[in-house]
This record gives sequence, C-alpha cells and structure tokens, in this order.
Amino acid sequence: MNFKDYIRVIPDFPQPGISFKDITTLLNDGAKYREAIEEMRKMIADLKIDLIAGPEARGFVVGAPLAYALGVGFVPIRKKGKLPYDTIEVSYDLEYGTDVLAMHSDAVKPGQNVLIADDLLATGGTIATCVDLIRQVGGNVVGAAFMIELQDLNGRAKLPDVEVFTLTQYP
Ligand code: IMP
Repeated sequence: MNFKDYIRVIPDFPQPGISFKDITTLLNDGAKYREAIEEMRKMIADLKIDLIAGPEARGFVVGAPLAYALGVGFVPIRKKGKLPYDTIEVSYDLEYGTDVLAMHSDAVKPGQNVLIADDLLATGGTIATCVDLIRQVGGNVVGAAFMIELQDLNGRAKLPDVEVFTLTQYP
C-alpha cells in the first residue's frame, strides 16, 4: 500500500509556503496505522534496541507503539518545564528564536542502545537535539526512524553518524 494515500497535505500551514504533512488521517485508520508501525518495526528489525525515545508530541504517537511492538521501554523527550523529575536540557535553533528539549536524567543508562522515533524528518534540528540529549547521558543512538522524510530539507546532513530509516519520502 502507499502510505501517501493516507497522509493529508495542507498547503500554507502553519504559514504561507509550508506544505504540511498531516498524519492524523493515517492515524485515524486503525489498519493503516498498525501497518505503518509494523513496516517501521521491520525496517529496524536488525538493530539491537533497548529503548525508544520520541520527541513530543507526534514522536509519542510513533515511538510508543513501536516500543510496545518490540517490547522495549519508551523515553519521552519534551519541551522544557513539562517533565517532573531531574532533567537534562539542550536548546536548539528554530527559524525564529530557540527552543529547549528536555529528558529525565535517569531515563537512559550509559551504554543502552536507543532508537529515536518521530513522525517526520524535516531539517533534522529536532532529532539532532534528541541525539545530543541521549549521548550526554552515555546512551548509544543506534538509529532514527520516521514515517516521513522531506528530502529537500536534507535533515540527514544534521545526523551524519546516525542511521536513518524512513517509511515514505517527499521531495
Ligand atoms: P525538523 O526539526 O526541522 O526536522 O522538524 C521536524 C519536527 O517538526 C517534527 O517533530 C515534526 O513533527 C515537525 N514538522 C515539521 N514539518 C512538518 C510537517 O509538514 N508535518 C508534520 N510535522 C512537521
């Protein structure tokens, strides 16, 4: 099946010139959502994974079912101020200004193999920040898996030493 048939493209959202890939239409179809997660599971089947980490919010929607399917733990990466225990934080540049992502300092133990999951790879800034957080506590990033890759934005360039897996690609 073609996953693109289930992804809704919204022109000029959230601002003019952006063609937003809306996965809520895929999530809305139980069989296709399951198939997408199952295809992602197959893509990473050869990796040794102890944990899956995903950035809020759509990284939870992709990462948590993948973790469930593999029988491994899930680590939420959130915007600063949302996690209740001790956190480590890394700031990253947005188009205008900066943002901060945080992770519980004890969520990943040194030497654990972590796969990062999110819905979409655009410029790669979000996932490069997740990689930074995991490595800061001694975690080993074994890969990053996405439902969608926006190829022209060349997010892979920001992840030179990370194996990247994507289910479907747009120019
Ligand atoms: P990046 O940091 O530039 O790679 O942007 C990736 C982040 O922005 C992901 O967490 C996505 O959820 C979000 N994002 C960027 N563009 C889109 C889009 O077209 N559809 C859905 N999410 C997007």
